[in-house]
Amino acid sequence: MKSLYQQRISCPHCGHHVFVSLDASDGDQDMYEDCAACCNPIHLNMHIDYANKKLELHVDSDDEQIF
Ligand SMILES: [Zn+2]
Repeated sequence: MKSLYQQRISCPHCGHHVFVSLDASDGDQDMYEDCAACCNPIHLNMHIDYANKKLELHVDSDDEQIF
């Protein structure tokens, strides 16, 4: 099972397509990627399904974060 993935996602703020690099060797991850188009943070939640050797990626905006 390779551990590095390139995944294309859509920005939840503006719909821009963003490529993210995922490292599956560290297990489940929570991370943020800034959209190149609108600069808003995209919340990525990566879950590794070892039983099926699949990688699930949940994308959402981070509206609860207050600056
Ligand atoms: Zn965007």
